[in-house]
Amino acid sequence: MQTQEKSFEVKNLIGGRWEERDGLETEPVYDPATGRVIAETPLSTEEDVERAVGAAKEAFPSWAATPVVERARVLFRFKMLLEERFDELADLVTLENGKDTKDAAGEVRRGIEVVEFACGMPTLLMGETVRDVARGIDNVSWRYPLGVVAAITPFNFPFMVPLWTAPIAIGAGNTYVLKPSERTPLSAQRIGELLFEAGLPEGVFNIVNGAKEVVDAICSHPEIKAVSFVGSQPVAKHVYELGCAHGKRVQALAGAKNSMIAMPDAVLEKAVPNIISSAYGNAGERCLAGSVLVAVGTEEEQDRLVEAVKEAASAMKVGPGYEEGSELTPLIRDSHRERVRSYVDLAEEEGAEVVLDGRKPPVEGGFFFGPTILDRVTGEMRVAREEIFGPVLSVVRVRTLDEAIEFTNASPFGNACSIYTESGAAIRHWRERIEAGMLGVNVGVAAPMAFFPFNGIKNSFYGDLHATGKDGVRFFTENKVEIVRFYSDPDDVGPSVAYPEE
Ligand code: NAD
Repeated sequence: MQTQEKSFEVKNLIGGRWEERDGLETEPVYDPATGRVIAETPLSTEEDVERAVGAAKEAFPSWAATPVVERARVLFRFKMLLEERFDELADLVTLENGKDTKDAAGEVRRGIEVVEFACGMPTLLMGETVRDVARGIDNVSWRYPLGVVAAITPFNFPFMVPLWTAPIAIGAGNTYVLKPSERTPLSAQRIGELLFEAGLPEGVFNIVNGAKEVVDAICSHPEIKAVSFVGSQPVAKHVYELGCAHGKRVQALAGAKNSMIAMPDAVLEKAVPNIISSAYGNAGERCLAGSVLVAVGTEEEQDRLVEAVKEAASAMKVGPGYEEGSELTPLIRDSHRERVRSYVDLAEEEGAEVVLDGRKPPVEGGFFFGPTILDRVTGEMRVAREEIFGPVLSVVRVRTLDEAIEFTNASPFGNACSIYTESGAAIRHWRERIEAGMLGVNVGVAAPMAFFPFNGIKNSFYGDLHATGKDGVRFFTENKVEIVRFYSDPDDVGPSVAYPEE
């Protein structure tokens, strides 16, 4: 049977057992391309969190004491299984999220890259040493796992975002509880199955499906040491505040409103397809989507750019992600489509020009929304500032690069910003002044690789250490710093390093 014809059962994974819980409320999971219900997510309770944390706590001492090379070997086997099941995993992402096959394959590849990074855990966990800080005395630091940690993930990358943290947290010796998006729980379930096939001991990786009740229970549970959240800005702030109030380490990656600044010298044949794929890829449901095109130059130069973007956007093939050649895929839910539509209505009321209008669904069935361009958007309009998370590109027209930077920096968000130009001087001027944590030069989706942090700033991130890269390793570990002296050492004749010095 083709993936798109299947139905699925969604279960919690607690202490190595897949659990069905009767009597819970559920949330439907849809195929966004047809609106067919493909599964029901159980809305678990605080009690399920309690049991998952209990299982993770029980598994922790033995997993933390497992040599790091053995933990890494589980990840190597996991990586091989992910490669073997690559197409199946990408199909599942397309089915539950709606994105096209190429995008889904990109997501799976990006997730695997974090597993590959975490396979280097023996090196990543190295501490630091300085010998002879005083005669016969050495100073060293060691990295330790924290204990039970948790992650709460969004619908838009159901496979990749759980893998931003799970391999790193587990590789570092923590035990882990995942709360996937209730709208896309299937990829996470497959991750759980494959981790156990790779030989992960019971209780090291747990899944509790659900919504707010589970999230709040995680953020306030006394045994959970760290919480990684990825999702919308208001919920990120809530998770950060609740988790911190309960003494946890929290990293909360939030929403975005990313500018793509097109300079007059941008090479249009190359820049336009890149702008299109940033604005409309995954139906605009990416935290790195370029949702504002800041056109720099004269009216004539701006018109040329807008015309070229409009022509390319109008030519996009709208259709299900699993159909060959689909470029613009459906939104996640009908309710979300309504929200996107209301933003376009609002833009019109606020005085923007709807030069390409996707409000009338271009495809019957499913949650499709056509490519939309709002021209002559100004900084005061809500569509210039708020995250729409749909295939809606706002165009802001400015004369100079400094005006483009000023417009962008007025945003409360600071996830990503791209510039299209051939000028090194312009790039440097922009980089030194722009307030965004991920920068793209002639690249519309400025996604860092797994060995770098996913680096939002301002209201796009709450916390200190970001996800992935060395930040990710530091987030899931703590140090002990040790000062060592052996009295039997014949060289030990030096002064004490005790503080205060006598
Ligand atoms: P969301 O905030 O609705 O949901 C994220 C998680 O929070 C889910 O697991 C959900 O169950 C939970 N949740 C939702 N409402 C809650 C509430 N009131 N209280 C407690 N928990 C709640 O986000 P989403 O719609 O799934 O994902 C899209 C958002 O995620 C966008 O804003 C996007 O920009 C953002 N995102 C950010 C990044 C990043 O790296 N900065 C990456 C991916 C997605």
